Amino acid sequence: MDYIDLRSDTVTEPTQSMREAMATAVVGDDVFGDDPTVNELERYAAALVAKEAALFVPSGTFANQLALFTHCERSQEVVLDDDCHIIQHEAGAGAVIAGVQFRTVTGKTEGGSSACLNPDAFEAKIRTHKDMHEPQTGLLCLENARACGKVLPLSFMEDMSRIARRHNVPIHLDGARVFNAATALGTQAEDIAQHVDSLMFCLSKGLCSPVGSMLAGSADFIEKARYKRKLMGGAMRQAGILAAAGLISLQEMRLRLQEDHDNAVYLAQQLATIDDIDIVPADTEINMVFCTFRTADTALLVEYLKQHGILAMGAFPNGTMRFVTHHGITKEHVDKVIGVIKQFLA
Ligand SMILES: *Cc1c(COP(=O)(O)O)cnc(C)c1O
Repeated sequence: MDYIDLRSDTVTEPTQSMREAMATAVVGDDVFGDDPTVNELERYAAALVAKEAALFVPSGTFANQLALFTHCERSQEVVLDDDCHIIQHEAGAGAVIAGVQFRTVTGKTEGGSSACLNPDAFEAKIRTHKDMHEPQTGLLCLENARACGKVLPLSFMEDMSRIARRHNVPIHLDGARVFNAATALGTQAEDIAQHVDSLMFCLSKGLCSPVGSMLAGSADFIEKARYKRKLMGGAMRQAGILAAAGLISLQEMRLRLQEDHDNAVYLAQQLATIDDIDIVPADTEINMVFCTFRTADTALLVEYLKQHGILAMGAFPNGTMRFVTHHGITKEHVDKVIGVIKQFLA
C-alpha cells in the first residue's frame, strides 16, 4: 500500500533522475580525494552557502557532532537552546565524541511566544574569563529552521553573530532545513550562513537524497573536520554514487520547497476549520504543521489514519500532532487527510 506519509520529510525517496545520476556517476576513492562527484558536490555546497569549503558526511547528526568535535576542546561548554536537535535527538553524543558540556537557554521568549529565542539569554550563558573552576564556552549553536517548525529571522542571526564576535566564540548552525528557512524568509541560504562560522544541512530531508549531509565553513575548519571525520569512521570511498544524488538535491529539489510550504499552510488552514483542533495557521512557516486536539485521543487517531492509508507521528504529548509535507505530497493528499480526520472525529 502506498501511504500518504506525513511523519517526516526524511521519508522522501530518490527521484528517477537521481537514480539515473547515481547509476552513471563518475566515482573514485574519496579518502584519496579522487572522487570527482564528491569533489563537485563539496564545491557546489560551499558556494551555495558562500563558505570556503564543505565536507560530505553520512548524516545530519554526524555533521553536528563533527562540528562540536572540530570547534571545541574537551570540557568546553556549548551554549544552545533546550529544544534543539543536538540536545533532544542526538543520543547525548556531544558528551561521548567531543567531550563537551551543554549549557542550555530556554526556547521561550518573555512575551510568551516560543517563536524566537532571545539573544541576551545566550550572551548571559557565555563564560570566557579564565578561572580554573569554570568551563570555557567553546561554541554557540543555533538551529534554523528550528525543529519546532519556526524560522529565526535574519535580524536574530545578526544579533547572535555580533554577540559571538564580541566574546570571540564561534557559532555553528544546525541548518538541517536551512533551505526551508531561506525559502520562508524569501532570501538565500548564504544570507543566513553569513552570520555563522559553520553550518550543516541535510540532503536527505525534503531534498530527496537517500543519504548525506554537508558541513560547511572556512577552509581551515573543513580541513580539520576532514581529519576528525576519518576518526569518526565517516570517510567514505566511492561516495560519488551518493554525491550524484546530493547534487540534484541542491541544484533542483531545493528550488521546489515553496510547494511544500504552500501545502503545509493549506493543511493548517483546513485543520483550523475543525472544531476540536487548536491551530493558528499563520504559525506554519515551513513544511511542518503542529496542531493540538482538545479532546480526541491522538493515539487512536494515528491508528485510524493508518487504516485509511495515512501515516502521522503520534509521539507528541498533550494532544499535539505534527504533519510534515514534502515531495510527493499534493493538495489532493491534504484534502484526503482532512476528510479522514473529520470522519474520525464524527
Ligand atoms: C534531522 C535533523 C538533524 C539530524 O539529521 P539526521 O540525518 O537524521 O542525523 C539535525 N538537526 C535537525 C534540526 C534535524 O531536523
